[in-house]
Amino acid sequence: MKTTRSAKLFERGQQLIPGGVNSPVRAFRSVGGQPRFISRAKGSRLYDVDGNTYIDYVLSWGPMILGHAAPSVIAAVRKAAGRGTSFGAPTELEVSLAEMIREAFPSMEKIRLVSSGTEAVMSAIRVARGFTKRDTILKFEGCYHGHSDYLLAKAGSGLATLGIPDSPGVPEDFAKHTLTAPYNDIGAVRRLVDNHRGRLACIILEPIAGNMGVVPPAPDFLSDLRKLTLEHDILLIFDEVITGFRVAYGGAQSLYGVTPDLTVLGKIIGGGLPVGAYGGRREIMDLIAPSGPVYQAGTLSGNPLAVTAGIATLTKLKGRGVYTGLEARAAAFAKGMGAAAKKAGIPLTQTRVGSMLTSFFTASPVRDWTTVKQSDTQRYGRFFHKMLDQGIYLAPSQFEAVFLSTAHSSAEIDKTLRAASAAFKSL
Ligand SMILES: *Cc1c(COP(=O)(O)O)cnc(C)c1O
Repeated sequence: MKTTRSAKLFERGQQLIPGGVNSPVRAFRSVGGQPRFISRAKGSRLYDVDGNTYIDYVLSWGPMILGHAAPSVIAAVRKAAGRGTSFGAPTELEVSLAEMIREAFPSMEKIRLVSSGTEAVMSAIRVARGFTKRDTILKFEGCYHGHSDYLLAKAGSGLATLGIPDSPGVPEDFAKHTLTAPYNDIGAVRRLVDNHRGRLACIILEPIAGNMGVVPPAPDFLSDLRKLTLEHDILLIFDEVITGFRVAYGGAQSLYGVTPDLTVLGKIIGGGLPVGAYGGRREIMDLIAPSGPVYQAGTLSGNPLAVTAGIATLTKLKGRGVYTGLEARAAAFAKGMGAAAKKAGIPLTQTRVGSMLTSFFTASPVRDWTTVKQSDTQRYGRFFHKMLDQGIYLAPSQFEAVFLSTAHSSAEIDKTLRAASAAFKSL
């Protein structure tokens, strides 16, 4: 496989951009080798600058659930661009997207649109603190909630694979307000809540963890957290930036029947353009400026192009059979991977919720950060490159999800599984 143009661009990029990339995991550090520079994408396929084609299972880290350059999304964005790209004044589009989100997530009684998941989480936590008049927050090891200061404690994939436990540049004074517990460990949460009585503003989590690889919630974990937070007047925040409109139209909260106080969205709701959203109970959200005193603003918030891509994406996702189709494809993918690994004698532990899944290179079950870390990441790196060489683009880290889109055909999944068979045998 020829990669000279990618190599040259990477060289050029590194002169100017830290690590040659604008987001760390793109640099392939944890699997070794050089990133591929992408020139275009269509459906399930990525095309790189050297003319190579890949079946893509990263999907821009989740947003491209309809596949790349979905015709209805592109047509809508083209039309919107012709009407102007930003006004700094409200539009009907923002109201329409907020209505679609609330229809899917009834717990989001009021919604604010922003430009990234990071920004949405940061703002949700600000309003949680404003509402409860408390400073301390609790998050889980291996959950990622964007790169804002006090959330960079034990934050999963990007940091994990770089080996940075906490980031320099985050004042201890900030990080000391963040407690961390092991995912799926309700006992540990109870102890922390007891030790910090009356001081916790919120508990935030990915209701299905996606940033340490996919780790589903243990039975009752979410409902136990709900009970505990209600008993102690602590707000429960679901970070559904990945799971929202991914595992079901109504996200993980509709799947598990647990209602948080606040929800954070991103990724899919922007259809591949930058959008984030946070929302929840009316009396909490009414504290946000200009209704209330908790300040939050954004020059490009609710940007008309981004919101248009979001509306077009959600409109497609509302169609009949979308999620059953995704489920069938993902189930076939996971089953095939399991069979291929078994045949080659490679121990694999697979996790999956709908169209997000991970094949961990370990024989032991995974339930939290400590157990996922037992995976053989060296072996994953070799597997990753064997797949890449056969035109299959997986995430360049063991601790990420495989995502499927409505554009992945059965033939492409079969091709991927044949490649996986060969890759497993060669390990
Ligand atoms: C991606 C992600 C974020 C951050 O979103 P950005 O748009 O990258 O800022 C937050 N939370 C979760 C769960 C994510 O997966």
